[in-house]
Amino acid sequence: MDSDERDLLLGTARKLAEKYDEHYWRQCAREERFVDELWMDMAHAGILGLGIPEADGGFGGGMTELCMVTEEMAKISRVPVMLIVTGLARIPILKYGTPLQRRQLVSETVSGRIRLCFAITEPDAGTNTFRIQTLAMRQPDGSYLLNGQKVFISDVKDSHYVLVVTRTTPLNQVADRRNGISLMMVDLTSPGVHYRELNIDVKKPERQFSLFFDNVRLSSEALLGDEGQGFRYLFDALNPERQLAAASALGTGYRALSKGVAYAKERTIFGNQPIGSYQALQHPMAMARARLDAARLMLYRAAALFDEGKSSGTESNMAKLLASEAGFEACDIALQAHGGYGFDRDHEIFGLWEGSRVSKTAPINNHMILNYIAEHVLGLPKSYAV
Ligand SMILES: Cc1cc2nc3c(=O)[nH]c(=O)nc-3n(C[C@H](O)[C@H](O)[C@H](O)COP(=O)(O)OP(=O)(O)OC[C@H]3O[C@@H](n4cnc5c(N)ncnc54)[C@H](O)[C@@H]3O)c2cc1C
Repeated sequence: MDSDERDLLLGTARKLAEKYDEHYWRQCAREERFVDELWMDMAHAGILGLGIPEADGGFGGGMTELCMVTEEMAKISRVPVMLIVTGLARIPILKYGTPLQRRQLVSETVSGRIRLCFAITEPDAGTNTFRIQTLAMRQPDGSYLLNGQKVFISDVKDSHYVLVVTRTTPLNQVADRRNGISLMMVDLTSPGVHYRELNIDVKKPERQFSLFFDNVRLSSEALLGDEGQGFRYLFDALNPERQLAAASALGTGYRALSKGVAYAKERTIFGNQPIGSYQALQHPMAMARARLDAARLMLYRAAALFDEGKSSGTESNMAKLLASEAGFEACDIALQAHGGYGFDRDHEIFGLWEGSRVSKTAPINNHMILNYIAEHVLGLPKSYAV
């Protein structure tokens, strides 16, 4: 996309974020419903077609544009987690799916008719994906029988399909633990699929669920790419997920910081000087701004590498790490600057702070990213047993 097209896109994202403001999000949270109106407007504006080739019904562009829109919307209001999960789930389908899978599961997401969620986390495996126990056993007729449990899965109730990371060969039967993992697209209305909402204490309309598969019969059409190769395919999706999570964390951080700065310029309690004149607030705010801007550079470097078809693992991990830390730091100093009013719902700061804290843990916790950098960039020994 050229810079005029990007400006147009950002203008559209800005207008949508202004229309669907905090009041709208809170109303949806109160009514425990998905942000349907926003989602359909995003579809009409072409945002859901970003990063999808025109041949698949999309509007072109890539991760760079998708990250720009995500950041811009989060700077003004909120951005649906659904944009991140649907966005990441489509990538392995585009790359490894059959023409039918691409048509049913990608093209239909552009119109907003179909939404996708993503299930990797399990209660007893956590961050250690190799230990997942969900199992899709191939049957003599070529179909699969899926059994297992996932946890913390966002947006299950409001999605139509879930991209499931499952074993097709149990861990104790593979020589290399990376083998025997497959990606399956599961229709959430299939017999044997059940879910239960979790008691996640973050006030958002988008919720998390435990997801149960109880003898779910899947046709061979559910499999993405080759059986047993899913772990390798997964990285195509996880780097974009990290970039989108970083873009959202950055937008939230910039938003909180601008609120904190505006408040600090106004609030006067000692003498005639506003609280923003005190270095105790100024320096952390200046540091937060510098760190947000630095994380932003890393994010768009990662997105550009991905769009050029180059390896972006290190940069995507670093962008997620730096953006979530900088975003949280910005929210924290904005909360501090607001004093007691920071906890007043009308100032919206505490909600931003809560949301930005989640981004240090999900979609991947920052300790695992530090492990990755230590091991793969610095060449240090692995710090944990596998
Ligand atoms: C709001 C929210 C939405 C989510 N949405 C999704 C979703 O849509 N789909 C999905 O599949 N998952 C989702 N998750 C799950 C999320 O990805 C996991 O919670 C996260 O990856 C951590 O896994 P865990 O909770 O099992 O923690 P564990 O793996 O049990 O780890 C706990 C903590 O131990 C530390 N730790 C663990 N291992 C190491 C190590 N080797 N070295 C150093 N420290 C370590 C880290 O600090 C880590 O945070 C979501 C979670 C939340 C909170």
